[in-house]
Amino acid sequence: MLCIYDFEIELEEYALKERRNEFPVFDRCPNCNGIAQGNLHRNGYYWRYGINEHDEAFHIPICRLRCLACKANISILPSFLIPYYQHTLYTIVDRVRQFLEGKKVIGCRQQLAQHIKRFCEGIHWIHSFFVDIGHQIGLSNDSKKEAQKYMKMILDIGISPFFRRSWGHLSSYFMGKLILPYLRYKKNYNCPT
Ligand SMILES: [Zn+2]
Repeated sequence: MLCIYDFEIELEEYALKERRNEFPVFDRCPNCNGIAQGNLHRNGYYWRYGINEHDEAFHIPICRLRCLACKANISILPSFLIPYYQHTLYTIVDRVRQFLEGKKVIGCRQQLAQHIKRFCEGIHWIHSFFVDIGHQIGLSNDSKKEAQKYMKMILDIGISPFFRRSWGHLSSYFMGKLILPYLRYKKNYNCPT
């Protein structure tokens, strides 16, 4: 399973610290909720890329854990990254925002088009998250207007808080596909931060 964790630093600093980052220590397994002591073990790292808003790529370690009780492999993904995307959360959202505001966006056009498409496909999910946290809002058929409206609401909450709070909503996450079997099926489930 994938566990999102706020290291309270950005990509650049995380990349610099590499394996010296302050990885979270759990009391309980994030998957089975069993006592971590004696069961939850560090299981090395895998390496992936993270790309910032200046299109600079950093090769970074992702810490892995393994639970002997439930056999789950757990990856600790820094919350500035979205699973399966190389660009940081901030970069993706900010470029989509610029596009929605009619501004000229730097970076790969094809990638931008994909990010916009995924953002717009996720509007119902974003809408559902905001309804879930108590907003009384409707959803019209004007997709551009809706995209602009929800972008503004995301920015009002803050990109990172929005991402962390919405993580796991309807077993999915921001910019993710709707059904993800490896996410724990529990409403608003968040790993300890
Ligand atoms: Zn477990």
